[in-house]
Amino acid sequence: MPKTKVKVPTPLRSFAGGSAEVEVEGTTVGEVVRALVTAHPALGRHLLTPDGTLRNFVSVYVNERDIRTLAKDATVLAPGDVVSIVPAIAGGSPSTGAARPADLPVPGKPGAFSAEELRRYSRHLLLPEVGVAGQKKLSASKVLVVGTGGLGAPAALYLAAAGVGEIGLVDFDTVELSNLQRQVLFSTGDVGRPKLTAAAARLESLNPGVRIVPHETRLDASNALEILRPYDLVLDGTDNFPTRYLVNDASVLIGKPNVYGSIYRFEGQVSVFDARRGPCYRCLYPEPPPADLVPSCAEAGVLGVLPGVVGTLQATEAIKLLLGIGEPLVGRLLLYDASSMSFRTLRLERNPECVLCSPKATQHGLIDYPAFCGVATAARPAGVPEVTPEELRAELAGPDPPLLVDVREPEELEISHLAGAVPIPKGELPERVDEITRARAVVLFCRSGGRSSDATRTLLDLGFQNVRSLRGGINAWAQRIDPSLPVY
Ligand SMILES: [Zn+2]
Repeated sequence: MPKTKVKVPTPLRSFAGGSAEVEVEGTTVGEVVRALVTAHPALGRHLLTPDGTLRNFVSVYVNERDIRTLAKDATVLAPGDVVSIVPAIAGGSPSTGAARPADLPVPGKPGAFSAEELRRYSRHLLLPEVGVAGQKKLSASKVLVVGTGGLGAPAALYLAAAGVGEIGLVDFDTVELSNLQRQVLFSTGDVGRPKLTAAAARLESLNPGVRIVPHETRLDASNALEILRPYDLVLDGTDNFPTRYLVNDASVLIGKPNVYGSIYRFEGQVSVFDARRGPCYRCLYPEPPPADLVPSCAEAGVLGVLPGVVGTLQATEAIKLLLGIGEPLVGRLLLYDASSMSFRTLRLERNPECVLCSPKATQHGLIDYPAFCGVATAARPAGVPEVTPEELRAELAGPDPPLLVDVREPEELEISHLAGAVPIPKGELPERVDEITRARAVVLFCRSGGRSSDATRTLLDLGFQNVRSLRGGINAWAQRIDPSLPVY
């Protein structure tokens, strides 16, 4: 008779000899469940009623389908089918002989948790996978969170709540109103404050037992190794390629795991790069995409809750690594699509030619990351003529006003716009260039001046003579000329 794999859920594993998967014989679901109960009689009470039918708070699936939509108990199994038992879960954890109060250390003994700590961490202490020993590991751990933005904010909150002993934070920005849609470390009253000051205050109020170490600087090749070295692992919450490659390379060079997360609009990626036992970020992406093909969150937008999910997944991986439990995402890339609400995991292999982590490595130190990623000076075409908001205001009021061309995306026009401006998104400019007169002066603008600078270069290359970019974009115009316009 064929054997069928049955997936046993966590709450029932202790009744199945601790197994997550059991193989039993049977040609229908009913036969398989009865064979399972024969092999593990303790499961019987949980799965079957006294008269031998399936309990109605237990769902049984064949592959991805509920047997109630198939032939119920009589559903016939094909070779390779997987049966999953999915019980109702309330959110608590039944007491299955995990740590009992008697096992907990007595407050006051040297090295023991205080009574307050025992209560704070009780839901960890009750988990067999954490317990007192695990909680002690967490309090002795040090994690560096690079960036306190959308990813770093939820990650730092969970690491502090979990009792990670020392949390280093790297950032140099101040809190802006537009951050609050996703950076849950910060409150409305923090707008204008340095991010690290606000973050430290929030994390210390969440858990005074955690030491917060602020690194108020831009991470670069001159300081990265020194900043990373004292920590057990790095959590990469950056939003730009130069810092991402820098964090990867520094982690590989000093042999620390790098918990990676990234987001774009509705999609997220998570992995653990640990070159001692798996691939690094450069094995996955040896080179960054060209700077002009990569919109930032400011240009592309992002669903606010997305970094919350991805940053929380990163914190989960960090805590597993610190505890040494479970299967970390080493050698796997998790893809999360919030739009379709789906998770996929792809296998990642080491690149035997990796310049950084392979035996053929040619790079043994940090490099110039802005140059490697083609940003900084190269990202903004040199020598693009610009006009300041004040100069533009004077010209618009004069006898020969320039034509305004708005190169932002349609969604942005709904936030703010300038009267009379012709909307042509930057990406459509090459095909729609005939809509722009060559007979008048032209001023291009975008949100903050980056895209309009690229677009100005495009028009100059096409032979336009009198083209300029509005320095600081419509946001600078809003701040300095027309306060009735929103800044975003
Ligand atoms: Zn590598």
